[in-house]
Amino acid sequence: MIVDRQGRRFRNLRVSLTAACNYACTYCVPDGKRLVAAQDELSAEAMVRGVGYLIEAAGIERLRITGGEPLVSPKLEAFLRGVSPLGLADISLTSNGQLLSRKLPLLLESGIRRLNVSLDTLDPVAFRSIARGGDLPTVLAGLDEAQAAGMRIKLNMVPLRGQNLDQVLPLLDYCLEHGFELRFIELMRMGHLARDGNGFQRQFVGMPELLAMIGEHYDYAQADAPVDATALRYEIPGQGFFGVIANESVPFCRTCSRLRLSSTGWLHGCLSSSNRHYVGDLLDKPRHQALPALQGLLVKALGDKQEVAFSGGVTVMKIIGG
Ligand code: SAM
Repeated sequence: MIVDRQGRRFRNLRVSLTAACNYACTYCVPDGKRLVAAQDELSAEAMVRGVGYLIEAAGIERLRITGGEPLVSPKLEAFLRGVSPLGLADISLTSNGQLLSRKLPLLLESGIRRLNVSLDTLDPVAFRSIARGGDLPTVLAGLDEAQAAGMRIKLNMVPLRGQNLDQVLPLLDYCLEHGFELRFIELMRMGHLARDGNGFQRQFVGMPELLAMIGEHYDYAQADAPVDATALRYEIPGQGFFGVIANESVPFCRTCSRLRLSSTGWLHGCLSSSNRHYVGDLLDKPRHQALPALQGLLVKALGDKQEVAFSGGVTVMKIIGG
């Protein structure tokens, strides 16, 4: 097992199935272009081999399928079929939910029981101006269907000053009513936001402000979370839970166990590092050749992790998944 001096190792793999997305969220995609898959994306079969090799070489235990938008990818079915038998402790998926109704039978057949759905607002007008794609009623209908089918659902919201701060409480109320766990994700200095410090500062809302807003309406107490969890979890007694992924306010680099594989075959050990390591060519090689080479790259990828705090990264989120 590859472990660094801080005792960190890779346990959680995020695979970005495609860079294509049917949204173009303002904080993720600077130019508003949608549905662009990278030209040299890996096949589903190569990605499945990659996951298998990473389970062996890095000790990966849990997989999250992300993107881009994983539900737009024609590779989804073959990828799910390939990774289901690999013996992972958990396979989950992050989606914007726009195609959730349509893909629900496939997800259920493949054994997926946990979904994170990104939803930044319940206001249809703000939804259009933030997501720049899709429509709100379709997402809400998909959430209802998924829940009725037994999916455990978390909602991800990125609070943005001037765009959706008035939605913090409505979204929390909606999640508590529906039994969804809401995750507030502090805006990260990624992609164009890393270059445009002013834009980041203007929009950023930190955990203390969020908790103060929530505290005016609800009593809450900190709840337990796994040691390598990215979210701080809170319980509103008798009503439910919410979480905050506080990259800036309470950095979690010291316990980070995440590894990312992009749709074009690059390994990323840290969102805050511009280093990446190409493994696409190794995935066509037999196991005895691929694994030793992969081990060397994993040592480098683990070395890319920040010691203490996230400090931004030029990589665009839709390329490597959230
Ligand atoms: N399309 C899927 C979705 O919408 O969930 C998966 C990919 S998306 C890149 C994954 C998550 O990253 C979303 O919850 C999104 O809000 C979040 N995200 C993207 N850019 C971000 C940024 N700069 N700061 C914080 N979260 C970001």
